[in-house]
Order: sequence, then C-alpha cells, then structure tokens
Amino acid sequence: MKNISAGKWDEKFKIFLKKYYWNEILQLANEYPDQRSLLVDFSDLEMFDRELADELLENPDDVIPSAKQALQQIDLPIDALLDDATVQFIKIPNKVPIRDIRSVHLLKFLAIEGMVRKATDVRPKVLIAAYKCLRCEHIVYIPQAGKKLFEPFECENETCGKKGPFEMLVRESTQIDAQRLQIQESPENLKGGTQPQSLDMDVEGALVGHATPGTRVIVNGTLRSILRITKEGKSPFYDIYLQANSIEYIDTEFSEIEITPEEEEEILKLSRDPQIYDHIVKSIAPSIYGYEDIKEALALQLFSGVPKHLPDGSRIRGDIHILLVGDPGIAKSQLLRYMVKLAPRGVFASGKSASSSGLTATAVKDDFGDGRWTLEAGALVMADMGIAAIDEMDKMRTEDKSSLHEAMEQQTISVAKAGILATLRSRCALLGAANPKYGRFDRYEGIAPQINMEPALMSRFDLIFVLMDIPDKERDLKIAEHIVKAHHAGEMSEQRLLIPGTMITKEDVDSEMQVVMPHINPEIMRKYIAYAKKNVVPVLEEDARKHLIDFYMNLRVKGEGKDAPVPVTARQLEALVRISEASARVRLSNVATLEDAKRTTKITLSCLKQVGIDPDTGAFDVDVLTSGTSKSQRTKIKIMKDIIRNVASRHSGGKAPLEEVYVEAEAEKIDREHAESLIDKMKRTGDLLMPDPTHVRII
Ligand code: ADP
Ligand code: MG
Repeated sequence: MKNISAGKWDEKFKIFLKKYYWNEILQLANEYPDQRSLLVDFSDLEMFDRELADELLENPDDVIPSAKQALQQIDLPIDALLDDATVQFIKIPNKVPIRDIRSVHLLKFLAIEGMVRKATDVRPKVLIAAYKCLRCEHIVYIPQAGKKLFEPFECENETCGKKGPFEMLVRESTQIDAQRLQIQESPENLKGGTQPQSLDMDVEGALVGHATPGTRVIVNGTLRSILRITKEGKSPFYDIYLQANSIEYIDTEFSEIEITPEEEEEILKLSRDPQIYDHIVKSIAPSIYGYEDIKEALALQLFSGVPKHLPDGSRIRGDIHILLVGDPGIAKSQLLRYMVKLAPRGVFASGKSASSSGLTATAVKDDFGDGRWTLEAGALVMADMGIAAIDEMDKMRTEDKSSLHEAMEQQTISVAKAGILATLRSRCALLGAANPKYGRFDRYEGIAPQINMEPALMSRFDLIFVLMDIPDKERDLKIAEHIVKAHHAGEMSEQRLLIPGTMITKEDVDSEMQVVMPHINPEIMRKYIAYAKKNVVPVLEEDARKHLIDFYMNLRVKGEGKDAPVPVTARQLEALVRISEASARVRLSNVATLEDAKRTTKITLSCLKQVGIDPDTGAFDVDVLTSGTSKSQRTKIKIMKDIIRNVASRHSGGKAPLEEVYVEAEAEKIDREHAESLIDKMKRTGDLLMPDPTHVRII
C-alpha cells in the first residue's frame, strides 16, 4: 500500500495537535478503532496559526492529508496506533449558500448548510483495488478516485508485462463505507417561495449512515467537479459535489433567524399592545377580503401549541392542523401561499404534485445514477419544525394519504421499502386545502363524501373550515371593491415606478395601499413568531382548563340519549388545549388564561357549526364529518328508500313514479325540495337509478 508523501504542513500540525488537542487525542487513542476521527474546531486552528487556517480554506487537498498524517504519526504515551484516524474540521466560517456556488469555489473548503433531501444506502466502496495478474500472480494496487473503476493497463512485473487478464482481490483491496447525500437549501433561507436548490455530497467512513432525509446539517468539505459524460462523450460542463470532511447536525428551532436587540424591543412592545390579535389577523393575507375567523385560526397555527414529552417517551404534538375546504375560486390557494411566506419555515406543495418523493417520503432506485436505493424526503419531511401547506389535498396519491395519518398524529414518517427501514421526522403543522368532489358544495350533504378524503384523516385536523361561495350582494360588493382597490393601488405603484413623468405621488400610492398593507411588517412578524415559539411556553390556568372541559362536556352531553348524534370526540379536546396555548403565545404570555380558552371555544364553535352541523336538525354531529351522513339524514334516506320500494311495488318493473314518491314523502314530513335533494344524493351514491325523468328505481 502506497504511503501518502509527507506534506508541507505535517510538522506544524503535529505542534498544533499536541498543543490544542492532546487530551482529545489520548481519548481517541483509547477508543480507537471504534472512534476514528478527531474533531478540530476551526477557530482553534485560526488562533494557532492564521496562515495555516487560511490555507485549509484555500487548499484543503494539501492541508487535510497533512493533518491526517500528523495525527497518525504523533508519539503516543500508550501503545496504540492511529493508523487510520482522520481529522475533521468543524465550525468553518466559509459558509456558502448553495445557490451562490460558483467556479471560484472549486477545490476550496466550504461549509454548506441545508436539509438532507435524499440519502442512499451505505455501501462499501473500493479505495485501493488489488489486482492479481493471472499470468504471473503479481499483485498490483490501484488507488481509486472518481466514478469509474480503474483497472491495470498492463502487469507491472517487468518479467511479465502482459495486458492481463487480472482478477480483483476483495480481501487485499481497501474498502471504505460510502454514501451519497443530497442537501437542499432550508425553507427558512428561501425568500418568498423561490425554488430550493441542492448539492450532492460524497460521504465516507465514520460520517456515513447518520443523516436521514429531513435532518438539518452543515456539511464541511471540499467542492469537487467531475466532467459530465453524455451520450456524445465528455461534455465541457462540470457536475459539482462536495466531498464531506465533517457533518454538523443542527436541531434547534429557528436558530437561523437572528433577532437583534432592537427587534426584540419592537416585538416586546407589540406584544403589550391590547390590539395585538387584531394586528396579527390584519397582517395575514391583507389582500384577501374577509375570512377573519379563518385568519385568526391561521394566526394561531403560526404560533402553535406546546409540544409535550411524556415520561413514557411519547410526544404530544403542539402543531395545529387546519383544513380549508371549499368551492373553487375563493382564495384558498392564496391563503396557503401567503402562510408559507409568513411562517418562519414554510413549505408549499400540491397534492397532485409531480415530484417523485410525493408529500411524505419514498425510496427510489438509481437516483444518483449508481444503482443504489435512495431515500427521498417529501414536503412534510422538509417542513419539519415548520408549516407544510398542501394544496389540492383531495388529489393526493393513495400512498401519501396512508402515510399522512402517521405524519399528522405521530409526526413521523416510516418508510419500509427495498430493505430501507427508516423513520423520518415531520414535526410540522399541516395547512391543507381541498376542493369538493363534484365541483361545488352541496349544502344538504356532509362534507366528507364531498371531499375525496378519508374520514379518519379528516378527524386529525384540529380545525376544519368550510368556505362556500354563496352569492351575497353585500359581501360580494365588498370583496369586489377590495379586489379592485388592491389592483388600483398596484397599478398606481407600478405607474409611479415605470413612467418617469407621472403625476402620481408616493403619498397617493401609500394612501391607496393602506387597505392591503399588513399591520405588522412580514419580516418582523416572522421574527415575532420565531421569538414566541422559542421563548414562550404557556401553562393553562385553572379556570381556562375548566372552561375547556365544560365546553367539551357540554358538546358531549348533546350526544347522550338514544337518538342523539355523537357530537365531539376526545381529539377535539386536545385541539382545544393546543389552540389555547397558541393564543397565549400571541401575547408572549406564559399563562393561558380564561380569555385564551374563550377565544379557543369561539373559533372551535364557528368551525363546528360549518362542519359538524347536521343539515337537517341543526345539531352538532361529528358523524357528519366522519361518516359523511348525519344520523337524521341517514334515517331520512332510509325512509325515502322505504317509500320508493313501497311505491315501486305497486307498479310494474320496480319503477316508482316520482310524483307518487313526493306525495308519500310529504306525508312523512319530508318536503318536496328536501326529497329532491335526497333522491339526487342517492343517485350519486349509486343507490338509485332513474330509468326515465319521471321514475326512480332502487338498485
Ligand atoms: P381557490 O384556491 O380557492 O380555488 P384561489 O386562491 O386560486 O382560489 O383564488 C382565486 C382568485 O380570486 C385569487 O386571485 C384571489 O385573490 C381572488 N379572491 C377570491 N376571494 C377573494 C377575497 N375574499 N378577497 C380577495 N381576493 C379574492
Ligand atoms: Mg386552488
């Protein structure tokens, strides 16, 4: 095996390591070979010798082997040989955003921060291949670099010199564990919904196998290039990747969002304003008119409840999941997009997105072109510790739907495919939007069957809002005025910007912009939210707890008695607690008071009214949500069926004339309009056939 020739920096490194890292080296020697690497903080190196530190950043290919050599050759007081130990440098100041990488960075030592999006299996890779000449049995060692395996050209044994054949000897070759990762820019570092960019990483030795998709990391390493090979041959374009020297794991929430003392002052001042809830609501999607109750709920989602860790190792989520379902064209998608921009960490995805990783995670083969299985994180994993906005949830793929259950409640995503067993974290709040199956909502029907989504999934949302586009003169006019005003303000601003001689003044623009201006500047708002989530941990006061329990019990009571619908489930009680905590966080208060509890029940009630209400009796009924049909409706459908059967039995061919059915329905206190809608519904569910416009037949 060839030895690395002595580098120019070896002696300096020996002095440095002895002086700064003697204890760590002794510890390494004790634990070697279970532990094989020495972590060196860049600032220590800088303190020791500035020139050497700079040299590391500029010429890592000279410096890192020197450091390694020095470590391996240090005289140890104990009988140990660190013949395979490496030096890993951490806390590198050369942090380069992935999108700013340019050719000047090639062969430099860089720190790349982001999230692991894909990770391949760990597989051995040949470092030095041993070949035996089958003619003379001479063994030749060939160091391997690059993508292709290098084989000997001719036997180096002078007396032989033949061109093979050669046999590769696995036992005599040197292998290393290798893995490929793809790092993508973290959502919080992207401004206003730009597409994240990514960079591949080569990871070897002790570094492999730790980073799962969704993990936040800083990878320090050397930027390398390989020529792209196309069908036509070598292309002048390079593909770049980072050869990792060390990986730092970051798991603190919002560590990236820096809040200056002045900003903290401003945040504290805002939090003391009695109007803070109003300000925050008016800072969410101001260009969208109305929906105050939804915006209030969205505000609370941004702040979120407190995640809890129980002694049995389980974790209760603090994230508030919200679903918006409704007619098309009523600004659902707009609200989602706005939230993603506002959240300190937001990821937007569409349920029918073409991305191969889907919403959760998938294992795909050969993604890096080397035949290995790759685990790839989807939107919910990438939104870990943030908000995932998923539009068109009704159009999700079936695999995504089934893994959403776990993602929403346990906040993990398990992948078991092709020998890959992994649990990825998805501690995020889900904001979903869905359109009704038949284009528009039918008010006489429960929402579940009108949305292409399982009841069990629906019940995992803390709040569900139903947005119906019902013509309403007064409201329509207000929306129209609001939209036109927003456009008008925009037009004025653009004209002022683009046409030099315009009469429009800045004051004109500002006064017009007033209506669509967020009360709190979005940049400060993001910081406010990050500050609250980091520093505020509210505890529910006694009367707040009592209020929530009373509210819950009250709704449950309505479910007692033989025929009454069951109103609420325990899931809703948990939701109430989370929303109250979020409400306290808005004020930066560590106590959730009765006021917070009341705000919670107000919002919940407005939701339940839209969702869990039985369209016939007006009573709360979670059955409407979970099975899609309320109890009274189920009974009515049953009555209608009986009537139709009855009428049909009096006629030939099992056909019941509609007129007769309506008359009998009337006798059962189902008026004509209602009977029509029930028949419509039965037709859609396939319980009923209409052989001609005047007859129906039970199937
Ligand atoms: P959806 O996703 O619900 O189908 P979109 O979010 O795509 O609807 O909205 C359609 C358009 O209508 C958007 O440009 C939106 O701004 C506008 N719009 C709808 N309702 C409102 C409203 N209440 N205020 C302002 N704009 C609205
Ligand atoms: Mg939409």
